[in-house]
Amino acid sequence: MAGTRFSYVKNFELPDPMLPDTYLVVRIDGHGFHKFADAHEFTKPNDEPALELMDTAARAVMDEFKDVVLAFGESDEFSFLLRKSCSLYSRRQSKILSTITSYFTSVYVMQWATFFPNKPLKYPPSFDGRIILYPTAQHVRDYFAWRQADTHINNLYNTVFWALVQQGGESTTQAHETLKGSVSSGKNELLFSRFGINYSTLPARFRKGSVLVRQLVEEPDKRPKKKVVVLHSDVIENEFWDTRPEILS
Ligand code: ATP
Ligand code: ATP
Ligand code: MG
Ligand code: MG
Ligand code: MG
Ligand code: MG
Ligand code: MG
Repeated sequence: MAGTRFSYVKNFELPDPMLPDTYLVVRIDGHGFHKFADAHEFTKPNDEPALELMDTAARAVMDEFKDVVLAFGESDEFSFLLRKSCSLYSRRQSKILSTITSYFTSVYVMQWATFFPNKPLKYPPSFDGRIILYPTAQHVRDYFAWRQADTHINNLYNTVFWALVQQGGESTTQAHETLKGSVSSGKNELLFSRFGINYSTLPARFRKGSVLVRQLVEEPDKRPKKKVVVLHSDVIENEFWDTRPEILS
C-alpha cells in the first residue's frame, strides 16, 4: 500500500510507545457532568443509578481488556490499572487511551436506558481520558489511595451541603458559606447534631467509591470462575493489597 505520491504524509504520524515494564493508569472523567447531572436530574448528592451505570461501563471495559487488573470509580470518573507487563497495542499511548475511553462511553450510552428507563438521554455524553505511568507499586497504591481519599472528602462535603439545602432550607450560596473553612470533624458533628445523620452509616458506595477486581466466583454446579466484582472496600490500608498480590505483580 506504500505507493502513491501522497503516502509521505503518513510519516507525520509519530510513534507514541509508553515506557516498558511500568504500571499504566487510565483515568477517564465525564466531560461537563455538572451540567449533564443537572440536565438529567441526578439525585443530589449521590444518584445511585448513575453510579451503577458507571460501574457497568467499567465492568465492560475489564471484560474486554484483560490487561486491566483493577478499576476505581467515583462520581463521573473511573481509573483503570493495567499490569506493568501489558503489551496491548504495543503500548501505543493514543491507541490504548482512545480505545478504552470510547469503549467506556459506548457502553455508558448503550446501557443508559437500563438504569434510567424513564429518562431519555438528552444529548450524547463524552469522557476525557489520560494515561499516567507509575514506576513502582507504591506509586500505584498511593494513586488509588489519593482517589479514594478524594471520594471521602467530596462525599462528606456534598452530604452536608445538600442536607443544609434540602433539609435545612438554606440556599446553595448560604450552604457554601456555612461550610467555608470547616474541617472534617466539624462536618461530621454538624451532620449529626442538625440532621441526625451518622456519616459512617451512609452506604459504602458513596463513602468509598467502587473498586472492581477479578475474583473467583462460585456458581452452583459449575467450576469457580474468575469474574469482575464490584466492591466498596478500603484501598488505603494494607489489607486490600496484601490479600490480592496479583494486582501489583
Ligand atoms: P469537567 O468536564 O472538567 O470534568 P465536570 O462538570 O464534569 O467538569 P467534575 O469535577 O468532573 O466536573 O464533577 C462531576 C460533577 O458531576 C459532580 O460535581 C456532580 O455535580 C456531577 N455528578 C457526577 N456523578 C454524579 C452522581 N452519581 N450523582 C450526582 N451528581 C453527579
Ligand atoms: P484496527 O483496529 O487496527 O483499526 P480494523 O479491522 O478496524 O483494525 P481498518 O484498517 O481500520 O481495520 O479497516 C476498517 C475495515 O472495516 C475495512 O477494511 C472494512 O473491512 C471495514 N469497513 C469499515 N467501514 C466499512 C463500510 N462502510 N463498508 C464496508 N466495510 C467497512
Ligand atoms: Mg475533568
Ligand atoms: Mg467531569
Ligand atoms: Mg469528575
Ligand atoms: Mg480504518
Ligand atoms: Mg479500524
